[in-house]
Amino acid sequence: MTVFSSMVADGHEQVCFFHDPATGLRAIIAIHSTARGPGVGGVRIRHYRDEAEALTDVLRLSEAMSYKAACAGLACGGAKAVVMGPFPADRVAGMHALAGFVEHVGGRYIATEDMGMSESDIARLNDVTRFAVGRSLADGGSGDPSPHTAQGVINGMRSALRAAGMSDDFNGLKVAVQGCGSVGLGVVERLRAGGAVVLASDISETAIERARAAGAEIVANDDILAADVDVLAPCGIGAVLSEQSIPTIRARVIAGAANNQLATDADAARLAERGIVYAPDFVINAGGVINVADEIDPAGYDGQRVAARVAGIEATLDDIFAKAARTGQTSTATALELAKSRIGAA
Ligand code: NAD
Repeated sequence: MTVFSSMVADGHEQVCFFHDPATGLRAIIAIHSTARGPGVGGVRIRHYRDEAEALTDVLRLSEAMSYKAACAGLACGGAKAVVMGPFPADRVAGMHALAGFVEHVGGRYIATEDMGMSESDIARLNDVTRFAVGRSLADGGSGDPSPHTAQGVINGMRSALRAAGMSDDFNGLKVAVQGCGSVGLGVVERLRAGGAVVLASDISETAIERARAAGAEIVANDDILAADVDVLAPCGIGAVLSEQSIPTIRARVIAGAANNQLATDADAARLAERGIVYAPDFVINAGGVINVADEIDPAGYDGQRVAARVAGIEATLDDIFAKAARTGQTSTATALELAKSRIGAA
């Protein structure tokens, strides 16, 4: 597939390839949509097999960012950057080169953190460009996005419980959380504070110990998806909801933070056929982007506005579940329709 045919198929506006001869940095910036505002999205630094794999990743991720931002009601669009690893040994020079590329795109792309990037890397980008957000609170930025993402999952879970005809009171609710990192642990803590019984798993001993200390009962990671619980919250990796796993799931609700939880598009229908209420990941996990995007507000970062928007995830999901019930479409298809109609209207 050529670059143009991929762009046309998915509706991308612009794809830029950059090479910095001094450091060897190779990066691609894909801007999916700026209809609602500048495209906000993380910089992912990863080893890619080849440039075709990097291109596929950046196109897919930037498109998903447009839908996430639109469903969250943000005045921004979707974009993403990938850097083909290994990152230059001189980290500062590499970040400055990357920032030069971001600056070159002239504000149509606002860079933030993704895999392989840290808060201090954002500060290095800011040496060169103001079009990078996700600075620490001490630096006047929006700080760690994870607590906002965790809170959004909790809010969205309440909506999903109601859509399944269940009580949205967490007291006594049984929830299985897969992946107890920055977001997953925050979900465990909030659920425990609400009186829920939490089963948790991870592949990291440190994460397991933290989840145990927060009051979760630890189960084997191989058993977590099929645990006998009311709610499953995938908060580790993507593609966990698949043709193989879906028939084994006992939860009536799936509400978690992980990106790209569905292994394939067909898995949304597989969940619906089993009567499982699924909160689309790009709607329920928008707390992080809501937080970071607030830095670009002309009036500056406002924690209260962020909290209100993160709370709004619950009402957005209420609308999505209600419409899905009326039309018979999956929650994922309904959420995509909402995102595309908002982008189209802009
Ligand atoms: P993290 O790296 O802090 O935590 C991920 C956890 O998952 C780690 O403890 C890791 O050991 C565990 N894990 C990895 N592979 C696993 C596996 N196969 N089975 C079980 N556990 C596994 O990441 P995070 O920031 O907490 O993000 C978690 C998920 O949520 C990711 O999919 C991320 O893309 C998504 N997400 C995060 C944010 C955010 O604000 N951090 C926002 C939106 C979406």
